[in-house]
Amino acid sequence: METDCLFCRIVAGEIPATIVRETERTLAFRDIDPKAPTHVLVIPKEHYGDVAVLAESDPGLAGEVLATAGAVAEAEGLLGDGFRLMFNTGVNGGQEVFHVHAHVLGGAPLGPMIAR
Ligand code: AMP
Repeated sequence: METDCLFCRIVAGEIPATIVRETERTLAFRDIDPKAPTHVLVIPKEHYGDVAVLAESDPGLAGEVLATAGAVAEAEGLLGDGFRLMFNTGVNGGQEVFHVHAHVLGGAPLGPMIAR
């Protein structure tokens, strides 16, 4: 655990979150500032800074994050109309919390992938 990492502190139970799914190695909780009717974040419990580092260090765990994201999408009723799965990565990617997280977004048409 990284003591100054917000999402590590959620994993540790030090900061409250609305948890929607938990596996041995992953956690899914609602985004505090939702950008869509459904907006859930999926993280590995272990700290990795971004998706590239995670995929390089532990591809199996990266797969578990994807599997949890898929299970969340199903549980939230998003499979029929579809959803967006997004990993903001680094400064240009708009990443603000440097503990890798997948955004599961859905519940309405989300528009173009990138605003221009
Ligand atoms: P990103 O810009 O990809 O790093 O996304 C970080 C996300 O974390 C944003 O969508 C925030 O709304 C969300 N967030 C920040 N603090 C919390 C929190 N305490 N609980 C849940 N989500 C949070």
